[in-house]
Amino acid sequence: MSSHPAMHYEKLGGGRCKCGLCPHECLISEGGHGRCRVRANNGGEIFLMNYAQISGAALDPIEKKPLKRFHPGSFVLSIGSYGCNLSCPFCQNHSISMKKPQTQECSPDEMAKLAKAYVKDGSIGLAYTYNEPLIGYEYVLDCARKVRDEGLLNVLVTNGCIKEEPFRNIIRLFDAANIDLKGSEGFYKKIGGDARAVKANIAEAAQICHVEVTELIIPGENDSDEEMEETASFLAGIGKSIPLHITRFFPNYLYSNRKATPRETVLRLKAIAEKRLEFVYAGNMA
Ligand code: SF4
Ligand code: SF4
Repeated sequence: MSSHPAMHYEKLGGGRCKCGLCPHECLISEGGHGRCRVRANNGGEIFLMNYAQISGAALDPIEKKPLKRFHPGSFVLSIGSYGCNLSCPFCQNHSISMKKPQTQECSPDEMAKLAKAYVKDGSIGLAYTYNEPLIGYEYVLDCARKVRDEGLLNVLVTNGCIKEEPFRNIIRLFDAANIDLKGSEGFYKKIGGDARAVKANIAEAAQICHVEVTELIIPGENDSDEEMEETASFLAGIGKSIPLHITRFFPNYLYSNRKATPRETVLRLKAIAEKRLEFVYAGNMA
């Protein structure tokens, strides 16, 4: 079950394939894998290697996703696998995004039943989170269909950095999403992402489901007034009621030697965003 035929790639001949799931468009030779480490070339075909491989599950408050304006006070069964298509040096989940942890197998059928079993504990459905869920596209797609068949809600927590067509096809199964908008195009280049794809996907998702956006503020990286003006203007152009979470960074992973974001920085940026957006939240302030 752990390896599953992948979608969204093309065969180039000579056993090589080009993955078309995210903007990296990895060229993958036989025996190799893409930057996300979970999409691999086996015999000239691409397979998803983390299909149904669950590294962690927890019943989380919906506010922890973070989603502040979607079924407040409820819980959601939250699951993660492993791998990511970005390489953020500040990743708080690097033990699963950058490495292959121990996993337990859980088919989409089993996962949908598990999600249903937690309804009695206040859960509204299933959240795909912790590592980047969309690189495990086929599993998320299969699970989301089953979860919807059970009458439950699907919640996506994503970096939003996949190509527009696969995103459009999967977001239709979701009821809510929290999408990272990490900073300017220059900042995305540093972490191996594509700001334009993320912005297009935020705009697309906002047409289809409830969307909230998170920006983690790292001192000296993406904490300027101008960048926050740009973020807030972009979101206001989609809708002034899109909630924005501006969150503090704490030293972690390759940025262990950096200082935490001062609370005053977050509050300053929040005030800037509030000139354009109705709902702006400061996160990690405790
Ligand atoms: S999803 Fe993975 S393999 Fe496909 S293009 Fe992105 S990083 Fe490369
Ligand atoms: S996108 Fe998220 S999970 Fe992936 S490396 Fe960056 S912070 Fe970690």
